[in-house]
Amino acid sequence: MNGFSYHEQILLLFSTPFYIIIIGAEILLSNFHFHKKTYTLKDTLTNIYLTLANGSIDMAFKLSYLWILTLVANHSATQPLSNTVVYWLLLLILEDFVYYWLHRFDHTTRFLWAVHVTHHSSQQFNFSVGFRSSVFEPLYRFIFFIPLAWLGFRPLDILFMYSATQIWGTLVHTELVGKLGWLEKILVTPSHHRVHHSSNPKYLDKNMGMFLIIWDKLFGTFQEELSEKEYAPIQYGLTHNLENPNAFTIIFHEWIQVFKDVTRGGLTWKQRMGYLFGPPGYSHDGSRKTSRQLEKEEEEARLSSK
Ligand SMILES: [Zn+2]
Ligand SMILES: [Zn+2]
Repeated sequence: MNGFSYHEQILLLFSTPFYIIIIGAEILLSNFHFHKKTYTLKDTLTNIYLTLANGSIDMAFKLSYLWILTLVANHSATQPLSNTVVYWLLLLILEDFVYYWLHRFDHTTRFLWAVHVTHHSSQQFNFSVGFRSSVFEPLYRFIFFIPLAWLGFRPLDILFMYSATQIWGTLVHTELVGKLGWLEKILVTPSHHRVHHSSNPKYLDKNMGMFLIIWDKLFGTFQEELSEKEYAPIQYGLTHNLENPNAFTIIFHEWIQVFKDVTRGGLTWKQRMGYLFGPPGYSHDGSRKTSRQLEKEEEEARLSSK
C-alpha cells in the first residue's frame, strides 16, 4: 500500500495539468484583458515551495495517520453504507463539515493559526495562492477525520474526498470570477473566499468552508463580499504582513512569536496559556487586538463618523 487510493491517483493525474492550464489562462487574461498584474514571480515561487513542503510532510506522515484511521475504522460503530450514492454523498457532506471545524480552529486557536497563517500571508489573490499550503497541517488534519472513520467511512475514501473537495477549494482563489447567482447560497465561491483572504476587520475569520457555504451560515461565520461603496476595497493578506520573509520565516514566523510571548517574564500561567491557546491577537496588556475587537472598533468608528 502506498497510501494513495486508485481514485486519488487518477485525481492527481488529471488535476495537475488542469491547474497549469488555468493558472496560465489567469495570468494571460488578467494581464491582457483586465490590465491587472495579479501574479508576481516571487510570490508564485513561494506558493510552489509551500505546496511542495506541505506535500512532503503529508507523504512522510501519510502511512502513520492512515494506520490510525484504519485502527478506528476497524472498531467502527457501523458497517459502511451499502448504497454507493448515499455513501459518497454523505461522505461529501460530513467531510466538508469536519473540514469547516478544522479550518475554524485554525483561525481561532493561536497555536494552529501559527501553522495556517502561511496560507494567508500572500497579499495577492490568484489560483496559485490556492497552493500556498499550511505546511504542517497534515500532522493534525486526520484527527478531524477520526469521527468519519468511526462512522464507517473507509479511510482511503475519506482522504480521497478531502482531495476532491480541495480541488474546489483551490479553484475559488481568483479575482476573475464575480458572484455566481444562486450558487452563492450553497457553495463556497470565489467571492466568499476573497472575503476569507482579506484583512479588512469585517472580513477577518469569515467564510471558512471548503465546498459548502452552509456551515458558515449555520455557525455564524458567514460574510458576504460587499462592494467598495458599501464597505471598502479588499486588502489581501494579514493584519500585519511580514516585511522580508525567507524560506524559513514564512513557515515559522508566528511560531517564533508564540515562543517569545509564552516565555516572556512576569506573566501568570493563565496569560501564557492565552498566548498559546487563545485567539490570535490575544494580549495580556491589550497591546494587540483580536479579529473581533478589530471588527468592533471599525464598526464603532463607522457609527461615530455618521
Ligand atoms: Zn483560512
Ligand atoms: Zn484560501
